[in-house]
Amino acid sequence: MYTRNIIAIIALLITILPGATKAAPPDTLHNRLFTVGVGSALIGGLYDGFYNYRSLKKHGDFGLGAPDKLDGELVVFQGKAYQTQHTGKTSVVNDLQLTSFAMVNFFHPDITITSGKEMDKASFFRFLDSILTNVNGMYAIHVHGKFKYLKTRAFPPVKEGQHTPLADMLNLQQFFEYKESSGDLIGYRLPAFMDNTNISGYHFHYLSAQKNAGGHMIDLATENITVEIDILDSYTVQVPATKDYGQFDFKKNRAEDIKSVERGGKKE
Ligand SMILES: [Zn+2]
Repeated sequence: MYTRNIIAIIALLITILPGATKAAPPDTLHNRLFTVGVGSALIGGLYDGFYNYRSLKKHGDFGLGAPDKLDGELVVFQGKAYQTQHTGKTSVVNDLQLTSFAMVNFFHPDITITSGKEMDKASFFRFLDSILTNVNGMYAIHVHGKFKYLKTRAFPPVKEGQHTPLADMLNLQQFFEYKESSGDLIGYRLPAFMDNTNISGYHFHYLSAQKNAGGHMIDLATENITVEIDILDSYTVQVPATKDYGQFDFKKNRAEDIKSVERGGKKE
């Protein structure tokens, strides 16, 4: 009886295994969001970079984040990482420089939509909401085209060892306004449950077509745009390998601080 069962199990395995191999998911990296650092830790003052761009780019060719010591804003586009500093200077970063917080994925569009309608930020977000119907879905969003108006911001670098919460340094932000600018918005819409580890809702960084301007998007008016959506299905968090992280207090809820930093001010 026992032997017969073993034989039956082996026979079953032989039948299942080839099918199981075939049914294995394809390269799931393509739908995975890879996060370096914790959003609320960055907002709470952990600005020291701990993860280099060479490693970051192994996990994605598209994304955004914060450079070491909060020195401006970061964007990863078509496999290259760019930094926009508070002076407005935008340049390719050195592979060995560090980030304190970043999210990347390998961008493969599932949905592509064009729009020649002029939209302000609120109507642009409503337009995206009409495409991104899963309210708890994770989406990477690439917007390419012409913008009638764009307002971005970048923070100046903090001093070595400075841990002032970001929401208390909003007056240090430098804002940039562009009219009739062509380029790319690189961003995400993430679900509410990701607040604190990340930033829920819409989050975009800009990179001009000439790759000489950018920053965290605060406001816009679209002209002619193509929107590409990559539907993601999982995320991972690379926690900081720093002493400060080991002592950071996560009990404080920083969701409201995250929102005010994201919009560039305390209230809209
Ligand atoms: Zn940002």
